[in-house]
Amino acid sequence: MPKAHTSYAEFYKQSIDQPDAFWAEQAKLIDWFEPFTRVCNDDKPPFVHWFEGGKTNLCHNAVDRHLATRGEQAALIYVSSETGVEKTYSFGQLHLEVQRMAASLKAMGVGRGDRVLIYMPMIAEAAFAMLACARIGAIHCVVFGGFASGSLASRIDDALPKVIVSADAGSRSGKVTAYKPLLDEAIRLSSHKPEAVLLVDRGLAAMDMTPGRDLRWSDLRAKYMHAVVACEALDSTAISYTIYTSGTTGKPKGVQRDTGGYAVALAASMRHIFDCNAGETYFSTSDIGWVVGHSYIIYGPLIAGMATIMYEGLPTHGMDGQPNGGIWWSLVEKYKVTAMFSAPTAVRVLKKQDPALLKKYDLSSLRALYLAGEPLDEPTARWISDGLNVPIIDNYWQTETGWPLITIANGVEKKPSKFGSPGIPMYGYRVKIVNELTGDELTGPNEKGVVVIEGPTPPGFMQTIWQDDARFVNTYWKSVPGKMVYSTFDWGIRDEDGYYFILGRTDDVINVAGHRLGTREIEESISGHVSVAEVAVVGVADALKGQVAMAFVVPRDSSVLGDRAAAMKLEGEIMKRVDGDLGAVARPSRVRFVSALPKTRSGKLLRRAIQAVCEGRDAGDLTTLDDPAALQQIRERLLS
Ligand code: ATP
Ligand code: MG
Repeated sequence: MPKAHTSYAEFYKQSIDQPDAFWAEQAKLIDWFEPFTRVCNDDKPPFVHWFEGGKTNLCHNAVDRHLATRGEQAALIYVSSETGVEKTYSFGQLHLEVQRMAASLKAMGVGRGDRVLIYMPMIAEAAFAMLACARIGAIHCVVFGGFASGSLASRIDDALPKVIVSADAGSRSGKVTAYKPLLDEAIRLSSHKPEAVLLVDRGLAAMDMTPGRDLRWSDLRAKYMHAVVACEALDSTAISYTIYTSGTTGKPKGVQRDTGGYAVALAASMRHIFDCNAGETYFSTSDIGWVVGHSYIIYGPLIAGMATIMYEGLPTHGMDGQPNGGIWWSLVEKYKVTAMFSAPTAVRVLKKQDPALLKKYDLSSLRALYLAGEPLDEPTARWISDGLNVPIIDNYWQTETGWPLITIANGVEKKPSKFGSPGIPMYGYRVKIVNELTGDELTGPNEKGVVVIEGPTPPGFMQTIWQDDARFVNTYWKSVPGKMVYSTFDWGIRDEDGYYFILGRTDDVINVAGHRLGTREIEESISGHVSVAEVAVVGVADALKGQVAMAFVVPRDSSVLGDRAAAMKLEGEIMKRVDGDLGAVARPSRVRFVSALPKTRSGKLLRRAIQAVCEGRDAGDLTTLDDPAALQQIRERLLS
């Protein structure tokens, strides 16, 4: 398809003014078994059906359709610095493995519409399982490997899987976590019981097999070595998967996605946003347990005919298990990665490594680094931008949207990024900023409000919350008075050039003596101090002022933690800085120094837990918490 559009503005305008023509054109980027008869059905808003009447298959588009032209080309490059395993699967080999997995699932009774819960570490078999589900029309529900039994059990009871695919163990920083006992305990806790469990044995931990229920992948793989399993022709609107949001702000929501719309959205994003071509290599450092892993480790790159790197391990350890802060860059060099996707939290980890590591490898294949998941602070962006010397492209999206809604579409038109801004609305997204109390649209530059999306939402966007249409409508579409718009629950502004700035979550606003302040703005100010590595600000109930801000700072120099005088001096400097940037009302009542901040397993700050601890409340659902010691440290710092 030739790139007919010259300017992004024109491209965007067409997507909004003539969505049917626009998306019918994008739909040519994928294969259809049967053509669709209607592009967009939004007769019953906020529900949208894309490409009705059309039949397609995600696995066909990700694997089979490339066999003729690139069967020998690398498709899945599996690298584990945890186990030292490195293995490349061509599209042809991937096709065989996926069919073996698909035949195994079918033999276990899995068919169209059945759920398969995937609780796995980052191993190639997890990708086979996802693609195998897509192939036979089963709905996959990937749950982040290593989640505790309780959170896994609640997801089993929500997804009601016929089969669970898992493995003996995961490994993190050389520490093996046996999954099988966690899974067995989860199945014991859940009311729903899967009929069968398929287990991949990596040889990391012994497995206690339950006869009649548990099966080994090695046995089934051998049995179905030569299986031929065709791709099912699925309705475009058929559910491809469900995935839970990160749970940063509360109970995770089971986001449900379709088949055809998602395939088209991803194919379009690979071209227009990530500016990638078939035959190149994509490297996303995320995990299949998150939406980024679904969209940009598995489906997006493969649909685009690219090789995708699936990496298990930390950014700080090499293939021999020894410390090596250059591991990711060595992979960029070795596999000639053209687009890399990571998160600000990972870059902050790398920032603590020797900067010479960035110069040690030939990174000339790399065209851009994309970062998403949380606000990208300017010092971090500058550091990596200077080090890599390629555009650093922030992209803003949510599990719910499936692909970026605010970023820069360099595949359409090269546009400069602005530090602190993810960019401008992506094609198909009617992004608005509204006053959260009146619902009025804020059209002026730099007016702060809630970022919302007007329907109809574009392809790839969530269909609903799994088995809970009412929660979908009530949670997302009814929070702004007088208007049915989708709320992102994030604050934002748009500047005079149309660039958006995300100012944090609507949950993260505090009210100090009648002044409404975003904790994110206070964090921005504090993180600008040279001695600050990381910071979290929360509002804490105060009898006099309503709320006060409390700051938890990870100092760049850890000696501050044990040096009272140095800590008091830095606290004073930080307060002064906030005074200068935002005014005295925003000044934190206290600044506490800690060695780490509590984060979710996906690297997001868990402010609600910090706030609960500060207010002496129960910290709530902590199953998504990565490092309990960090929260404990906050508890201790409050007392000291
Ligand atoms: P939950 O919805 O369960 O509380 P969550 O919102 O953390 O969890 P995700 O869907 O993983 O779950 O995260 C999306 C959110 O992450 C966005 O709404 C926004 O707050 C934040 N975010 C993502 N990308 C960016 C970005 N580039 N800049 C600023 N914030 C971002
Ligand atoms: Mg969210």
